[in-house]
Amino acid sequence: MDVEQFRKAGYQAIDRICDYHDSLRDRPVSSQVEPGYLRKALPSSAPTEGEDFQLIADDYQKYIIPGLTHWQHPSFFAYFPTSSTFEGILAELYASSTSNPGFNWSASPACTELEAVVMDWTAQILGLDKAFYNTSEVGGGVIQTSASDSVLVATVAARSRYIREHPHVAMEDLVLYTTTQTHSLGKKAGLVLGLKVRTLEVTAHDDFALRGDTLKVALEEDVNAGFHPFFLIGTVGTTSSGAVDRLDEIADVAKHYPFLWLHVDAAWAGVAFVCPEYREAYQLPAINKYVDSFCTNFHKWGLIHVDGSCLWVRHRRHLTDALDVTPEFLRSKHGNAATAIDYRNWHLGLGRRFRSLKFWFALRARGVNGFQKYITDCIRLNAKFAQHIYESDLFSVVTKPSLAMTVFRMAPKSLPHLGTPELNALNRGFHARLAARSDIAITQTDLNGVFCIRMVIGAEKTVEGDIEHALALMKDEAMVLVRNWEGIGGGRRGRKTCVVPSHSH
Ligand code: PLP
Repeated sequence: MDVEQFRKAGYQAIDRICDYHDSLRDRPVSSQVEPGYLRKALPSSAPTEGEDFQLIADDYQKYIIPGLTHWQHPSFFAYFPTSSTFEGILAELYASSTSNPGFNWSASPACTELEAVVMDWTAQILGLDKAFYNTSEVGGGVIQTSASDSVLVATVAARSRYIREHPHVAMEDLVLYTTTQTHSLGKKAGLVLGLKVRTLEVTAHDDFALRGDTLKVALEEDVNAGFHPFFLIGTVGTTSSGAVDRLDEIADVAKHYPFLWLHVDAAWAGVAFVCPEYREAYQLPAINKYVDSFCTNFHKWGLIHVDGSCLWVRHRRHLTDALDVTPEFLRSKHGNAATAIDYRNWHLGLGRRFRSLKFWFALRARGVNGFQKYITDCIRLNAKFAQHIYESDLFSVVTKPSLAMTVFRMAPKSLPHLGTPELNALNRGFHARLAARSDIAITQTDLNGVFCIRMVIGAEKTVEGDIEHALALMKDEAMVLVRNWEGIGGGRRGRKTCVVPSHSH
């Protein structure tokens, strides 16, 4: 492709991207294709001769778009959101136009310097303590690929700190702590690094938050058994219910274990700190005071494209002590003199994408007010949804709504005698009916044996009418199940049969 062909194809790409975004509301939310659809449609090998780009661009529309789930669709309420903003698309375009791996400051000074700046900007808008700013030159922030990478990097740093301080401790005696509600990233870090992981129980009574007493008992047991607690993952905004671990209590226990690294995973909820009114309830003061590292994914609920996981550490040297491997060919004047950051020593890979550009574009284009408005709009819509669930005769809220998430389930007042197994069966049927529809995407979870539905609001295009539409179709689907249950069980001893549709809408 020469420059003029690129210009033409580029204009067409922008036009098609605009059309795609304009037509989102009319598209099915979830892809309707069957597994293997693409292999059947595409040739079994790459072409020997290069093809005309128009053909390739048309095939993207024909084969790829139908296989996409549209996460920006106004009726996408599944998982946690991710963003695609026009500012971000342009940033990604510019970043790819100068493709470079920016691992050292000298490899491309702007990449490193912009990352250091936007990590301070984001720290500032979230209200993080200045100790985490890059300008502190003690702590600092770095953009990682994912929250899983962030926790892995923090674990490596914590392990290396622990072993440095306790050179005679065997790696197999180190223990990493998670709870039953921690994202799988905790177990994965243990798996990758070959570390023992202890999973602590949390209860519905405590809103699925880790309490200090539970931690205290576990740490004492492990130390008495000859193990070495070295890493704890606390969560602010768990995946299943948006729970917030009691970081104040945890810190009170952890202070007796000076080399126990506290990492807070706030992959989804952390961006809500942009609104000062949520800082207290979601434990920002404890994060600022106690934690060694903190992560939030701006690429989830923070108007940044995948990938943009922000990791801040209180002491950057723990990262660089653990991860600095510098052969001659990576040496540079400023790296040697430590007068500039070489981000390759702050993460696992060497080369890195120019991710800070999309942060810079989005932060400037939206401003703090734009970010706050987006977050509060989502929370307001969720409050509206939750209110309907509270008032409903068909549904009930399972855990207190958290920011823009409501966890609920069918609990029809007309079927008051159903126990947990029957309600779980009913709700599995309910979820199956929703999952079979193409006009909504919503996901399920299990909270200590209770099957429930997670409603998460995050698409920028979602408005009140979309919430009303979601509620209406949920009621329709729930009523089919209630009628079926009443029909076969008289509403008293209903059999665990649910009508799962073969149709899709
Ligand atoms: N932490 C929490 C609380 C999450 O909900 C998720 C994903 O939804 C993750 C971590 C994983 O994020 P990532 O895909 O960036 O590793």
